[in-house]
Amino acid sequence: MSSRGEVYLPSESRRSGSHVPSMDAYRKMHADSLADPEKFWRDVYRQFHWETPYTDFHSYNFDRSQGPVSIKWLEGATTNICYNLLDRNIKLGHGDRIAYYWEGNDPDDYSRLTYRKMLEEVCRFANVLKSKGVAKGDRVGIYMPMILEAVVAMLACARIGAVHSIVFAGFSSDSLGDRMHDCKCKVMITVDYAYRGEKLLKLKAITDQAINRCTSLGHKVESCIVVKHLPRLAASMNCTNGEAAHLEEVANEVPWDDDRDCWWHLEMEDADTSCYPVWVSAEDPLFMLYTSGSTGKPKGVLHTTGGYLMYAATTFKYVFDYKPGDVYWCTADIGWITGHTYVVYGPLANAATSVIFEGTPFHPGHDRFWSVIEKYKVNQFYTAPTAIRALMKFGDEPVKKHCLRSLKVLGSVGEPINKEAWLWYYERIGNKNCSIVDTFWQTETGGHVLTPLPGCTPMKPGSATFPFFGVEPVLLDEEGHLIEGPGEGYLVFKRPWPGMMRTLFGNHERFEETYFSRFQGYYATGDGARRDEDGYLWVTGRVDDMLNVSGHLMSTAEVESVLAEHPGVAEAAVVSRPHKVKGQCLYCFVTPQSSQAFDASFISQLKTQVREKIGPFASPDVIHLAPGLPKTRSGKIMRRILRKIAVNDRNIGDTSTLADESVVAALFKTRPADV
Ligand code: ATP
Ligand code: MG
Repeated sequence: MSSRGEVYLPSESRRSGSHVPSMDAYRKMHADSLADPEKFWRDVYRQFHWETPYTDFHSYNFDRSQGPVSIKWLEGATTNICYNLLDRNIKLGHGDRIAYYWEGNDPDDYSRLTYRKMLEEVCRFANVLKSKGVAKGDRVGIYMPMILEAVVAMLACARIGAVHSIVFAGFSSDSLGDRMHDCKCKVMITVDYAYRGEKLLKLKAITDQAINRCTSLGHKVESCIVVKHLPRLAASMNCTNGEAAHLEEVANEVPWDDDRDCWWHLEMEDADTSCYPVWVSAEDPLFMLYTSGSTGKPKGVLHTTGGYLMYAATTFKYVFDYKPGDVYWCTADIGWITGHTYVVYGPLANAATSVIFEGTPFHPGHDRFWSVIEKYKVNQFYTAPTAIRALMKFGDEPVKKHCLRSLKVLGSVGEPINKEAWLWYYERIGNKNCSIVDTFWQTETGGHVLTPLPGCTPMKPGSATFPFFGVEPVLLDEEGHLIEGPGEGYLVFKRPWPGMMRTLFGNHERFEETYFSRFQGYYATGDGARRDEDGYLWVTGRVDDMLNVSGHLMSTAEVESVLAEHPGVAEAAVVSRPHKVKGQCLYCFVTPQSSQAFDASFISQLKTQVREKIGPFASPDVIHLAPGLPKTRSGKIMRRILRKIAVNDRNIGDTSTLADESVVAALFKTRPADV
């Protein structure tokens, strides 16, 4: 694989008028942001409302030998993020602007909400929370589908200084209960039921089980507020009378505890539509959120207010090149960091209009994403490689049914995007006319840290390219020596940016241990990266996933990308397995396209392809037929489990974040006989 790769220039029509018009402009802004951070961020700071100004712009310590790790921005300043997102935008004249087009699971179910109406709803719900005894600093758990009430609940917490802790509504009751217990949440907010695709989810029943688990662990949740969602769904679903009656029956079966539970709509009826914001310190917590759990037990990442606001706002504006009037759509669930920063905080800070989508890409047909883009004339579309790969399998027909000409920027996040998927996204979805922003970041980073900028950065498929403003990435070798120029190593950051996490909730020691102990003075991402001759950064995946075969260091992502180039491969995941002679060898899990036979000739073609594109040392030892791959509920491949399968070790550790356990059992059963 050539390290330079092919370069795709932003199309001429897109270059004119973008926020950052050229690489020269980018380099100057980036250099300025590092040389004088206060000057750079002050321009952003001034766009927002601060009840009292900062006294100390920024201080930090990344070096444990110098004392506890700490990160502080805008000390002395007080503000309210909800005020900045809603009241401030309304004062600027954007009250009638649409904040969200809501698109339900069912295509006939949709609505919209303006900034003004949103503020009213948020204030009412903030008053409901207050009536339940929620005060500044209390944690509020949210376990909801992608409905507008979820955003209202988040902002209502922020309005009164409470800390939201959202758990993706695909998690089991045990996982939810453990997280409720870890964050000691006072109130839970959920819905009766939700549909995801064709599947009815009993979210209230799951919440009840989770609350019981939490109680048994020693923490009592005081109240549970429930949105009545099912009857609304039933109304929009064109049900037959029989079906409607059945749904009504189901709706009436919601498990209930009169002392603890209440209906959202009843509480909202009498709630006041104004609620004075609670001014909080810039460093007061805004939310906590558990990481996806790809590598082990999830970590409760804590983000604070002032710096996060500035960073979410700035990355959103530049990375999606958002302009007033654009319609933006991020498909991430609010249960993930992407949903926090790029469905809620970043877009609203810019008075943007977004689409928020409850359903799945496959319901009612495989063209749902494309039909939603056409329906709302989406300009910026942001999704994950796992979704792109899944949709590629259905070919171009579902895409061709829709007009996607409104698209300007296409984003990717969550995993390295392999070249095949990148090209399909670029050519078939973007019609070679859109910038692709492959955004590298983490729950911990709060916002994008490595990313191309639309209309500015010449793109290389699979490269997250260059750092965002204020971000200083460094590559280190095993011993912690700087790798300058081309090379591959550990991706670390030398200094904080405003949106970075501040600690792990209730466990500062684990925070220091996890991120600041491997290399003194640096934040370690846990990911590896390569810098090519042009200075482009290529994130190669988790450092645990690097492998050394006969003295050759390589990343699993590189091998996966080559496997995926074979037309018969739908998805591939590669891990290392100990080998007596070579040290480590390659064990590849391959999901073939439905039309592809998994026979000796296919296996030998795959081995040849890897040998030819990477080198003879990389020749895979095992190709394992995988009808499915173990993934986190956010859609990421869990290679740590694949490593266990490769050595037939059934002791697979924490599986709370695993989306489908049966996939693992199936893979253990189908290990090739000769290995
Ligand atoms: P855990 O930390 O619990 O193991 P996780 O790391 O998967 O879970 P997230 O914070 O959701 O949890 O994901 C961040 C990780 O996702 C990054 O560290 C990186 O490995 C991967 N990632 C995200 N975006 C990209 C990208 N554009 N290119 C490559 N990798 C990416
Ligand atoms: Mg992580």
